[in-house]
Amino acid sequence: MSKEKIIIAGPCSAESREQVLSVATALGRMGVGTMRAGVWKPRTKPGSFEGVGDIALEWLAEAKRLTGLRIATEVATAAHAEKAIGAGVDVLWIGARTASNPFSVQEIAEALRGHKGPVWVKNPTSADIELWVGAVERLANCGVEQIGLVHRGFSGYDSASGYRNTPLWQLALEMKRRMPHLPMICDPSHICGNRTALLEVAQRAADLDYAGLMIECHPSPEEALSDADQQITPHALEQLLGQIIWRKAEGEATGCKEELEQLRATIDRLDEEIFTLLAKRMDISEEIGRLKLRDNLTILQSGRWQEVVERVLERTDSLGLGRGCVEQILEAIHIESIERQNKIMH
Ligand code: PEP
Ligand code: MN
Repeated sequence: MSKEKIIIAGPCSAESREQVLSVATALGRMGVGTMRAGVWKPRTKPGSFEGVGDIALEWLAEAKRLTGLRIATEVATAAHAEKAIGAGVDVLWIGARTASNPFSVQEIAEALRGHKGPVWVKNPTSADIELWVGAVERLANCGVEQIGLVHRGFSGYDSASGYRNTPLWQLALEMKRRMPHLPMICDPSHICGNRTALLEVAQRAADLDYAGLMIECHPSPEEALSDADQQITPHALEQLLGQIIWRKAEGEATGCKEELEQLRATIDRLDEEIFTLLAKRMDISEEIGRLKLRDNLTILQSGRWQEVVERVLERTDSLGLGRGCVEQILEAIHIESIERQNKIMH
């Protein structure tokens, strides 16, 4: 297990003193730094297990005393934040449902005014990056200094993806680009919703230079009162953490530095060519727009666009380019092209 990586592990929910202490002991033994456990659980429907509440704070504090682990829990209201801090909880996180609600985030941020400890913000359930950014800004505006991001996937109707929450890696990477000063960790448990895909998702995060993982771990996962399908035993967690390959980040690269620089120079040159060509293509689009205006033709000529897509795909198939990528590029080009012609028409 990499020492530099942030690993926050523990049960979805604190269920009993024995359960909490049992996980804590196991985590402490394997060198995990922070134990998570939900005290108050936001559940989609009423009637599900909603956490044991305040009493769990005492169990967490005891686990901290016995093992030296930092303890982490989710706060969804100002009162939760105050109680958790009062009980010595070291690390707080704002859950996906709460991060989706600016009123709740604002209320928590004000309760945390000037708070020194780490506060992790999970991505909102909907694929809305501004909402995620907004939650971070609300905390920062209240003087919370140690803010981190947790990528836990997005809910949707994409059951074909096989994930409980679709990862949408690109969106998380965009968040990383927008907030490069914040660490981002991945929560494979809530992305997967099962035990089998955890390693694959965690490895993907490692390959994308995430700062660590938040992962659910329970002494007897099948009997867990929440998220039973995705939790793993401490033993399975230890194996999983041992299997993940954490690669070197930028700046640490050693042996291949020169070769890498040469290849990157080539990439930069090719990008230059691609975008110079794209600009030329747009100039031609504008010229066509002026012709369409003169002869009163519609901007969109459906048959023509269909032809373009088919011709390009036939060529890019033979070049071994993925259709998903080519289709997205074509779509972006088409949108820009229509926009240019639209400006000419009006
Ligand atoms: C959790 O971490 O147990 C949890 C409820 O997660 P999320 O807010 O990502 O659904
Ligand atoms: Mn959970």
